[in-house]
Amino acid sequence: MHRESCDLLIVGAGINGAGIARDAALRGLDVIVCERGDIAGATSSASTKLIHGGLRYLEQGAFGLVRESLQERETLARIAAHLVRPQRFVVPHTGERPAWMLAAGLLLYDLLAGRSTLPRSRRLRADFPSLQHMQPPVSAAHAYYDLWVDDARLTLCTLLDAQAHGARVLPQSALSTVTAEGAHWRCTVGQTTVLARCVVNVAGPWMNAVEALRGVAAAPVRLVQGTHIVVPRLHAGDDAWLLQQPDRRVVFVIPFAGDFHLVGTTETDLPSPEALSATAAERRYLLDALRRAFGGAPVENDIRWEFSGMRPLIDGGGSARTASREYRMRMEGERGGRGWMSIQGGKLTTHRSLAERAVDRLAAFLGSNARCVTADRLLPGAEAAGPTQRSELARTLAQRHPALSSGWIATLVGRHGSETSPLLEQAARAGGPGRDFGGGLFEAEARWCAQYEWAYNADDVLWRRTKCGVGMSAAQRDTFARWWVDQRIG
Ligand SMILES: Cc1cc2nc3c(=O)[nH]c(=O)nc-3n(C[C@H](O)[C@H](O)[C@H](O)COP(=O)(O)OP(=O)(O)OC[C@H]3O[C@@H](n4cnc5c(N)ncnc54)[C@H](O)[C@@H]3O)c2cc1C
Repeated sequence: MHRESCDLLIVGAGINGAGIARDAALRGLDVIVCERGDIAGATSSASTKLIHGGLRYLEQGAFGLVRESLQERETLARIAAHLVRPQRFVVPHTGERPAWMLAAGLLLYDLLAGRSTLPRSRRLRADFPSLQHMQPPVSAAHAYYDLWVDDARLTLCTLLDAQAHGARVLPQSALSTVTAEGAHWRCTVGQTTVLARCVVNVAGPWMNAVEALRGVAAAPVRLVQGTHIVVPRLHAGDDAWLLQQPDRRVVFVIPFAGDFHLVGTTETDLPSPEALSATAAERRYLLDALRRAFGGAPVENDIRWEFSGMRPLIDGGGSARTASREYRMRMEGERGGRGWMSIQGGKLTTHRSLAERAVDRLAAFLGSNARCVTADRLLPGAEAAGPTQRSELARTLAQRHPALSSGWIATLVGRHGSETSPLLEQAARAGGPGRDFGGGLFEAEARWCAQYEWAYNADDVLWRRTKCGVGMSAAQRDTFARWWVDQRIG
């Protein structure tokens, strides 16, 4: 068995593991990240994909969480500009909450955001264009802004930056045994033995299973499943919707992958992580929300894709809707000895600040006083920042590669930002984009994902490195999966 040693072994390559790996590697710590499946293969690719303060958390009085999230929204707009886009949300006044309450909530949201680069909220009149899609019509609404993000690629790029600063990344490698050995933990990770001074358990919903490997009893975790469905575009326009529901929950309807709308989410308590799976009741709940808002809404057969994720919430009793989205961080160990940190909960939005706090403690434990620099460094690909720079980059690259389709180049820039340039150099050397699999996916990009982005299975490419799977037929996806296996790419 292969042997390695490190300061930190991070268990789980979701957004929190990736964030901690990046922060620690940038401070010069020796880091290994292990992931039993794909990067962002679990919750971190199954979110609503919002970098947001969480308007509805204001109702629960979670002002600290909302303020921290809104500050992080600004930071991520800067360092991950190629992966986020400003998104306007329309909140129709449909009576579940009084109009004054919505107005007051949005005013507070704007105040907590401070000096934001996003526009402030405002009241919309009945003749506002997007409101014309509502059936039955509504007489008033509010609009506010948050950021939309490609969650899986945010996780990937965070980890790529960690790797660029020395972190070793082991996908498809589960942590399976842990034993204490002097000032180290001896861990079996896939086919490798790792001697680590500290282990960081960021296994998300599987946190208790990882704790059990060292004989520690389960912490009280409340698993709540959230399901999203993807349907063909309900109407034109770039606005998203926040639809209030009779049970006081909200359902988001967000433009997605060009021709689709993403609709979610639900809240269903789960007995264990293995029970994760979209239910008929969840589909019905989401389709009903669409029908109430837009009249003749899609039916079950129109659902093009669905995915479910789990929140391992801190269990304070009460309903899933009101359970805390804060995180809990626990550090054990004596200085000079071995350390163990476990983290429960959190949000995509706050992963960077969570990582900063975690690595402050881990670095102090390991005797390092290096400071956090993650808020000031761009993620790989973010050099082509806002929409203007992105279209300029696409134009420049199209001039440099006249033999390649400018439409394909623009799509790649939307996904890979400034990393599109080396991808195209490689494609040009291979004689072009290669085989066209449909849905905007070409051989050159698939090979790039395998070579530089740890894609191992066809699904990693179809649903996480890209979202091309949504626009492909089942037959096209099968053809791609067969090609992937035949070429032994992963
Ligand atoms: C439905 C839903 C919608 C959400 N929407 C938003 C949103 O819009 N905005 C927002 O900010 N947040 C959102 N969140 C929260 C956010 O998605 C999560 O907080 C975040 O993704 C959690 O990341 P994580 O790294 O802790 O966990 P995960 O992404 O679950 O990663 C844990 C990883 O550990 C791995 N693992 C488990 N056991 C082992 C082992 N033994 N060895 C190696 N690896 C192991 C797993 O395979 C997994 O990849 C949402 C959550 C849900 C469920």
